[in-house]
Amino acid sequence: MGYIGRFAPSPTGRLHAGSLVAALASWLDAKANRGLWLVRIEDVDTTRCKEAWGYDILQQLSSLWLHHDRMIVWQSSRTNLYQNALERLISQNLCYRCICSRKAILHALGMNQNKTRNIELIYPGTCRSTNHQIPHSTWRLQTNTAKFSSVSSWIDRNLGLQNQDVEKTVGDFILKRSDECFSYQLAVVVDDSAQNVSCVVRGQDLIDNTGRQILIQKMLGLPALNYLHTPLVLTPQGEKLSKQSGAPELDTTKPLERLQEAAITLGLTRIDTRIPTQEALQFWVNEWAFLYNLKL
Ligand code: GLU
Repeated sequence: MGYIGRFAPSPTGRLHAGSLVAALASWLDAKANRGLWLVRIEDVDTTRCKEAWGYDILQQLSSLWLHHDRMIVWQSSRTNLYQNALERLISQNLCYRCICSRKAILHALGMNQNKTRNIELIYPGTCRSTNHQIPHSTWRLQTNTAKFSSVSSWIDRNLGLQNQDVEKTVGDFILKRSDECFSYQLAVVVDDSAQNVSCVVRGQDLIDNTGRQILIQKMLGLPALNYLHTPLVLTPQGEKLSKQSGAPELDTTKPLERLQEAAITLGLTRIDTRIPTQEALQFWVNEWAFLYNLKL
């Protein structure tokens, strides 16, 4: 099938300097591998995403000369694929319904609500053996099964060998919420496979999700992918630049200057921004191929 890469932004806002790093890295890797670069709008969480932001992101990418190679995919129109995958997991007894509120989970963990507002909790498995059939309850993946090890291992092309024990570090995680929204974890695995993606290039802030995604892939019998997690853009206070940390949206009126900032975060060379943008991009493709030992 050859190399297929993708950029998969969630339209919870417009692109900022941090998301451009992931976009540029995935584009460069696809081009340096003579592959295809797909763009998928991850609007599966309809409570946080806006269609208009999806179109704005596409407009920003096009102003930055990062042109996609195939039709854009919107996750909100693919819920039947995610439901099929969930049913395959249900039929293998690999997930279960859960009725625990956050408050109940905190109570089971002996934790104080005020101190844990933004923390992702390790679910203690309360509903694992209760066999609830209550409609509109949450579906969770069972991470400790006899058939599949909860330890995921992969070689990250940037960071080397990685191991994550999903049961210990995350616990039984959500596949579908009680409001019927599918989780990012399930949707991303289903779509990467459906689109024949071979290599995932994304920000290091998402590395903690990779173990979960590899576990779902194994349970669904899907092929393993290659991973490369890129460095993050930090705020002057050393925090990850994100929409939550108040990252300003990207002004694309000077595309090459924005691309140059992203390229420098990726360890690439500063160039003269008076050259045409396409030439600069080609220069970084060659440099990327050299850095990652790829034959152009
Ligand atoms: N949609 C995710 C985000 O915007 C990224 C998904 C991925 O690259 O796997 O954070």
